[in-house]
Amino acid sequence: MKDLNLLLRKNIQDLEPYSCARNEYSGKGAKVFLDANENPYNSPINRYPDPLQKDIKEKISRLKRVHPECIFLGNGSDEAIDLVYRCFCEPRIDNVVAIEPTYGMYKVCADINDVEYRKVLLDENFQLSANHILNSCDEHTKVVWLCSPNNPTGNELDRGEVEKILQEFEGIVVVDEAYSDFSHVQPLRLELHKHPNLIVLNTFSKAWGCAGLRLGMAFAYPEIIEAFNKVKYPYNVNILTQERIRQQLDNHWDVDKWVSILLMERENMVEAFKLLHSCKKVYPTDANFFLAKMENADVIYQYLKDNGIIVRNRSNVTLCEECLRITVGSKSENAELLSVLRKYDEQNDNK
Ligand SMILES: *Cc1c(COP(=O)(O)O)cnc(C)c1O
Repeated sequence: MKDLNLLLRKNIQDLEPYSCARNEYSGKGAKVFLDANENPYNSPINRYPDPLQKDIKEKISRLKRVHPECIFLGNGSDEAIDLVYRCFCEPRIDNVVAIEPTYGMYKVCADINDVEYRKVLLDENFQLSANHILNSCDEHTKVVWLCSPNNPTGNELDRGEVEKILQEFEGIVVVDEAYSDFSHVQPLRLELHKHPNLIVLNTFSKAWGCAGLRLGMAFAYPEIIEAFNKVKYPYNVNILTQERIRQQLDNHWDVDKWVSILLMERENMVEAFKLLHSCKKVYPTDANFFLAKMENADVIYQYLKDNGIIVRNRSNVTLCEECLRITVGSKSENAELLSVLRKYDEQNDNK
C-alpha cells in the first residue's frame, strides 16, 4: 500500500476541522452546559448529540469485534461511500475501479464528486477476477469498490481474489459487507488488522431492521477513520438515532432470530421459485434477497405491481437481463408473492 498521505487529497490532509462545542469539552461530570447556545428547554432533544458517538461505538465494538478507534458511524453507509470520494479522490484527476453489476451508490457518488468510475464486468457466475481489476487500475486509481455478498446478484465474492486485490493494489479497497449477517462466510472486517488499505462497510439497514434510522458503519485503520471524522458533518448522527440504536444494540439477540427466520424463508422461496414455469433460474445467494431470471421480467414486474407487490426489476442491468431481485419478506408477504406468481403461471400456461 502507498503511504496514506499519498492517497489522501492534499486539502483533506491539511484540513483544520470544525471544532464543535461538544468536541472541546470531553470530560464527564459537568452539570451546567452553557457552551453551545442550546435552549435549556425541551430536553432531551435540545442538546447536540455526541459528535463521535462514543458509547454506541463501545457497544458496536463488542458485537462486531472491531476496536472503537477503527469504527466510523454515518448517516447510512451512503455517507461513508461519499466520504471515500471526498477524502481520497481528486475530482477530474483520480479514478476508481468497481465490479459491475453492483450497488448503484458507488457510481452515483463518483458522478457527484466528478470522479471517473471504471466498471469491470463480473463473469457469468458473478465472480470477479483480481487480474482484471488490477489491470484496470493506473497511477490515478485511488479506490477499488467491492461488495460481498454483492447486490443485486446476492453471491459472496471469491475470497482468494479479494485478498489478491488487497495485497497487490496500492490504494484503498472498500468491501461493502451490508449483507454479511446473512452469509455463512466469515466477514472480512474480522481481518481488518491484516489490511491497512481496507475499508469494510456495514449497515443497520438490513439484518438489524433499522433502515429508517439511517445508521451505517465503516471499519478501517484509525488513520482512515480520523480522515472521515475530520470531513463529516460535526453532528452527522442525530440524538434520536443514537438513542434508538442503543436500545437495539442491547436487544441484539433479536437480530439473530430475524436472520434465522429470513434464511429459512429464503430457502423456501428459492425452492418455490424453481418450480414456477415463469422462472428460468434462481442464482445462488448469501443475502436476504435473491436474483431470479424470469420469462419476460418486465411483464411479470408489471403484473406484480398491478397486484400491489413491488419487487426490484433489474432486467436493464448488465448480466442481469430478464432478472427480478426479490427481497425475502415475512412469511405472509412471501406467500402472497408466490400465490400471485402461480396465478400468473396458470394464465400463461393456458395461452
Ligand atoms: C442496502 C445497502 C446498503 C445500505 O445503505 P444504508 O445507507 O446504510 O441504508 C449499503 N450497501 C449495499 C450494497 C446495500 O445493498
